[in-house]
Amino acid sequence: MTHPSRRTFMMCIAGASAALGASQVLAQAAGAVSETDPQAVALGFKTDTTKADTAKYPKHEASQMCGGCQLYQGKAGDATGPCQLFAGKLVPSKGWCSAWVKKA
Ligand code: SF4
Repeated sequence: MTHPSRRTFMMCIAGASAALGASQVLAQAAGAVSETDPQAVALGFKTDTTKADTAKYPKHEASQMCGGCQLYQGKAGDATGPCQLFAGKLVPSKGWCSAWVKKA
């Protein structure tokens, strides 16, 4: 028979694992672009435009954000939105990548 404290501990671990799994599923459902995604790395994508590599991208300006990019498909005021370069995923409106083009 399992000691009660060990059993309680194991139940907590199982619960924590289930919660972690659920949060991972939610993150995948949201489909947020990760900075470590190979395509994101190739484009110098950052979730925060102020973190852009200005040495590598000297034309970057802090005023350039996904929310003001021609390829951004989110609504004004939304925190995240789809981007034509990252099909099926969301980028933050304050993000940036080297493909930024001023919204017409
Ligand atoms: S293409 Fe535009 S909207 Fe898409 S990640 Fe780059 S800056 Fe953001």
